[in-house]
Amino acid sequence: MFNGDSIERILRTQQLSKNRDPWQRRLQEIGPADVEAALASRPGSYSLEKLLALVSPAAENYLEPMAQLSHELTLQRFGRTIKLYAPIYLSSYCVNRCRYCGFNRDNTFQRARITVDQALAEAEILASEGFRDILLVSSEDRAFVSVDYLAQLTKKLRSRFSFIGIEIFQLTRAEYATLFDAGVEGVTLYQETYDRDVYAHYHPGGPKADYDMRLRGPDDMAQAGMREIGLGALLGLTDWRIETLALGEHAWYLMKRYWQSHISFSFPRLRPASGVPTAEFPYLPMDKNLVQMILALRLCFADAGLVLSTRESANLRDHLVGLGVTRISAGSRTNPGGYGLSKTTVEQFEVHDSRSPTQVVAMLKDSGFEPVWKDWDPAFLGA
Ligand code: SF4
Repeated sequence: MFNGDSIERILRTQQLSKNRDPWQRRLQEIGPADVEAALASRPGSYSLEKLLALVSPAAENYLEPMAQLSHELTLQRFGRTIKLYAPIYLSSYCVNRCRYCGFNRDNTFQRARITVDQALAEAEILASEGFRDILLVSSEDRAFVSVDYLAQLTKKLRSRFSFIGIEIFQLTRAEYATLFDAGVEGVTLYQETYDRDVYAHYHPGGPKADYDMRLRGPDDMAQAGMREIGLGALLGLTDWRIETLALGEHAWYLMKRYWQSHISFSFPRLRPASGVPTAEFPYLPMDKNLVQMILALRLCFADAGLVLSTRESANLRDHLVGLGVTRISAGSRTNPGGYGLSKTTVEQFEVHDSRSPTQVVAMLKDSGFEPVWKDWDPAFLGA
């Protein structure tokens, strides 16, 4: 076991951050007997060998039994419930140059930022629709979306929302601690890709270009006390099967080390974005690949949250409810001020499922699921 080891060293030792060729060979060598052994193991238990079998090409012939097991395990652990959340985009100014993103600093368009008061107005629209779980999203715009701005906003949102998460640029441990004290309880920070060379290609400039710094982020969040830590790899940059193995190792490392933080996985598959050539996405997984990845992670991590955003189509999201996913967004706008202020500012990426929250709730109920707007109250902690 890797107690005392760093995630950077684990990934390097496993050849998951560089020189991944041995994994390509091992994936091809997996046969039906390996997949069947993985399916016969305790549902929800993790090992790298098991995850390897479940994401292999051979496991594509076992999607039905994987779905059945994943469905049973998810019902057992989470009941017939799906949590609902909505993002609020705060800024589209960015100092980074991520090649896959419409907000990258080299892209020319009319950028937008919203003030704390404007963000509160956006949040009020979401609250009136029923949302109590909110995700504050921002590009790397520290000059405007500072830690102080986020703390102020969070303190004002606390009385209205039971869970406030952030999906913004990477902060230091001390900054995460400041926001935790203000009321932020969850942080999502995608590594984007665990492959160092691919990471360097897609992040040619800005603070985010530092792979090692990015990899340390979840440790800092956990040490700052964050209750929910969201991991993810941007799907489309490199082989999704090997990225899933790296994600599994990262999650396992965090679970062993920081038992007080709950780990969740998101599945951001690249979407068309303004100013980004689609040639930038050579490894885009197909729907059946995304389904296999979700099922494999559920069968290895019984209690992990699995989050699916409106990047995905209504049809796919409807089918994945009950098969492992536990939390979905609804009615999302990915442009600053998108709910009430300005329908016309540029989006970070195109939303695929554009149904209203009411329509998503109706779908959940028709499928026999209870939409959960609020499943936690800070008052439980005496806060
Ligand atoms: S992905 Fe984030 S950090 Fe990178 S350019 Fe887009 S908004 Fe900026």
